[in-house]
Amino acid sequence: MPLHYPHPRPPAAGTLLEVVPGVFWVRMPLPFQLDHINLWLLRDGDGWVIVDTGFADDDVRANWEAILAGLDGPVGRLVVTHFHPDHFGLATWLIEKTGAALAMTTGEFLTAHAVWNEVGGHGARFMVEQFRQHGLDADHLARFAKRGSGYRKAVPSLPDHYRRLMEGDTVAVDGRKWRIIIGHGHAPEHMALYCAELGVLISGDMLLPRISTNISVFAATPEADALRWYLDSLDCLEREIPGGTLVLPSHGLPFTGVQPRVKALHAHHEERLRALEESCEDVPKSAAGLLETLFPRALDTHQTMFAMGEAIAHLNHLEQAGRLSRSIDTDGVIRYSRLQHLAAAH
Ligand SMILES: [Zn+2]
Repeated sequence: MPLHYPHPRPPAAGTLLEVVPGVFWVRMPLPFQLDHINLWLLRDGDGWVIVDTGFADDDVRANWEAILAGLDGPVGRLVVTHFHPDHFGLATWLIEKTGAALAMTTGEFLTAHAVWNEVGGHGARFMVEQFRQHGLDADHLARFAKRGSGYRKAVPSLPDHYRRLMEGDTVAVDGRKWRIIIGHGHAPEHMALYCAELGVLISGDMLLPRISTNISVFAATPEADALRWYLDSLDCLEREIPGGTLVLPSHGLPFTGVQPRVKALHAHHEERLRALEESCEDVPKSAAGLLETLFPRALDTHQTMFAMGEAIAHLNHLEQAGRLSRSIDTDGVIRYSRLQHLAAAH
């Protein structure tokens, strides 16, 4: 069963498109190869709720100015799905402009502060060390070290307080209940919002129609099986969200077809896992040495960061599933091997 896209054309910059009664789609530019993010505005009585903020740059601010000027009431709440800059970058700015109260999960709020301040194993210097252990070359490492925490540039300042939302909480918007669904593997405590009455799931980055969600392992939790967490979170969506639900993703087009999309993502990751296993058949390989297997194309610095995270997540998964074994060589680099695993089994 293919996915169905009932709204094939995104709204123009600085405008709203109503996708179901009271739920409006906003699209903002992103300065990457992934060049856009979708945000959502929910009508709430005389006022409005904003879901996610966009990246902190002047284009996005200008679009917001146009949108806010056209609203017929105040923005009461800002709900943020997770701490990534394209979702959280303009939170302080929007709160100052509108007086909205922020709501998000504690995992995301605190991770934002940790990454911003580069403490507790979060931020660029920890990531550089993690990538060194996973075999990334000196040239790339120097580039990451020099670049520092891009997070501060993309999220110029952070709010100091918020309302905490947790798994299973419900939030009332315009008299309708939206249930909070927490997911893992992309960010520590990512929040999706589901309204059964409207048949709408705001999926954030957890369920995207065309691209696969980036799965990353933080330096603070180096052995995390983030892929398992992600696949388990997908299974939860597959079970709990009815088939006809309109999914509002952060990237790409609104779609229906949760179940076939979850199935396709499982198949996609299993294919990647198999390719990695096969690449480690004869010679032990590091995560950096496997980037070409996962991404057979040239990667810029930004993409290399995501690619390394993705490679480590898949390798952690394979190791913990007993499909690869891991060793630390005399050069201090972690390498994975199928051969050693098989040898050890005899
Ligand atoms: Zn994200």
